[in-house]
Amino acid sequence: MSSEPVSPLPGIEPEAPGSRPSLSELSRQSDRLNALWKQVTRHDLSDEARSRAILREAALALDMDLAVLGEFNGSYKARLVHDPLGILPEGTVLRAQEAICQIVHQTRAPLFITDLEKHGDFAGHPLVLNEAMRTYAGIPVWTGEEVEGVLAFLRRAPTPDGFEQADIAYMELVAGWLGHHLYQARQRIQLERHALTDALTGLLNRRAAEARLQEELARARRHNEGFAVALVDIDHFKRVNDRYGHAIGDQVLKVVARRLESGLREDDWLARWGGEEFLLFLRGADQQESAYVMQRLMGHVKAQPISTEAGSIAITLSAGIGLPAREDADYHAAVELADSCLYQAKSGGRDRVEIRDGNAVFWPAQIIKRALRDNRLRMASQAIVDLESGQVVADEALARVVLPDGTLVAAGEFVEAAEGLGLMPEIDRYITRQAMARCTTALGNGVAGPDFAHFVNLSPQFLARRDLVEEMLTNAQNYCETCGITLGPVKPIVFEITERQFLSNLDTLEADLKPLLDFGFRLALDDFGSGYSSFLYLARLPISFLKIEGWMVANMRKERKIAAIVESLAGFARREGIITVAECIEDGETARVLREMGVHLGQGWHFGRPELEENQL
Ligand code: GH3
Ligand code: MG
Ligand code: MG
Repeated sequence: MSSEPVSPLPGIEPEAPGSRPSLSELSRQSDRLNALWKQVTRHDLSDEARSRAILREAALALDMDLAVLGEFNGSYKARLVHDPLGILPEGTVLRAQEAICQIVHQTRAPLFITDLEKHGDFAGHPLVLNEAMRTYAGIPVWTGEEVEGVLAFLRRAPTPDGFEQADIAYMELVAGWLGHHLYQARQRIQLERHALTDALTGLLNRRAAEARLQEELARARRHNEGFAVALVDIDHFKRVNDRYGHAIGDQVLKVVARRLESGLREDDWLARWGGEEFLLFLRGADQQESAYVMQRLMGHVKAQPISTEAGSIAITLSAGIGLPAREDADYHAAVELADSCLYQAKSGGRDRVEIRDGNAVFWPAQIIKRALRDNRLRMASQAIVDLESGQVVADEALARVVLPDGTLVAAGEFVEAAEGLGLMPEIDRYITRQAMARCTTALGNGVAGPDFAHFVNLSPQFLARRDLVEEMLTNAQNYCETCGITLGPVKPIVFEITERQFLSNLDTLEADLKPLLDFGFRLALDDFGSGYSSFLYLARLPISFLKIEGWMVANMRKERKIAAIVESLAGFARREGIITVAECIEDGETARVLREMGVHLGQGWHFGRPELEENQL
């Protein structure tokens, strides 16, 4: 090694060999370290404010006129500034090559210039020409493995004696602290971004979307503007996963996200709402416009099969659009509308969009939703009579909605709407519970024996909900145990299913019904005669009761042919050991004719109207 003293850093005058700092110098250094330490450990400040306090402390200790923590990110940004002279506002962005600090960033080494005016590269720099800066010290700021910033100190006076080693060490220390804070801040931003975006698609996640929807609603109110919310779901996506595997499914999801995103209008945005479901926010859109936008986007996805590693996969989407009602206080109502429309789009055959405007919602939807929410659903029951003996041998549980003014709405008026809105499971859940409770009470107080049948209508949506079916079976088990009457394998509850809802997929239906049949519940085929697939149901399912549709009963005395059909049905059922129940019997003569035809049971106004059950759960 050469004995010649060598400057370790450019611009630094080497210390004279053997020179020692004086005692007063040591005490000065110790004081400023203490002062710095006080700022570093200030926990009453935010990270940002603490960094600013450190910067200020350092500028004072080093007698500098300007201290800047700058960041390089393509360009240079003065991120934190201590600037009593008002030269460089915080947040100033410069082209990288305009900043003296760029050299420090590039070389990742400190740079000390004792007199800028005498420096070949910087004598003409605006900070020198306009602001008379003479001294420059720049220290790289490391965040983790990277140099992402530069800490710079500038002074209007030169530093003819060069920089002291102690000052350099002090600056390095400050740069170290600021780098630490910068790093933490960056980590925090990344974490926040992570919490708000969906990792697979890079779209807003549901949490972020919910927050954003709330903001959008407030904005819409302020500007007296409308909006639409669309829920978009990939059709038969399970098949993609089943056939090609989850990884290919993921590829498809990403492409669908990109295609939807690329077709968005300027103020609209997209989020991943759930598994393969997206939420689309359409600012200021009315019915027509949102339907148009949605159709265009769906066309965009459908136009070309998606190419994946497993080959091309054709995809269609279903969508539901909801527009909020004027009085809605939050966005939930619009999302709910979109959701029920999506359900409709799916059950209507997929690859389509359904739309509903909260201001124009047809009344049953609102009524049922509110009734469910406010506990205004009730069970009524109607007597079913043995046509031979005239005894009441069974009853049917019927859903009723009580309007706020006390009027009753019959099931027939809202069931279809409830199906469309996907509300049937809730309704069925309520009615089955009521019916089982009633059955238990009747058995308990001896009003009815175990042969008395309670008919309850069940929707396919309820049957498809494994959780609800299981819950019901558990309840039933409990009721059977508590009522203290030992029942044979056949239980008093009979579930009515109607072909109207089961136009497809008898296999699924059979599977869904199995646990109920295993438990000992029996099946009635409801509305028999109102459609064309009835015989298939009759042939395939273990039907115990056949309910002859009301219209045929009401018209059979006028039309000979109808009477003939009813009569042959009754005969067929008898031969097959199936019990027939005629609905809508309104007079004694009809009851007599049916009895003579061999129909077993009957219900209708002639025997009694449905009566609201007291003491409901
Ligand atoms: P439908 O037309 O009724 O929507 O049919 P579908 O098959 O799309 O039915 P459903 O919505 O019930 O099923 C969605 C499927 O999407 C089930 C789930 O495994 C799959 N899925 C959800 N999230 C992801 C994901 O992140 N990646 C992959 N590959 N599949 C997902
Ligand atoms: Mg789907
Ligand atoms: Mg889905």
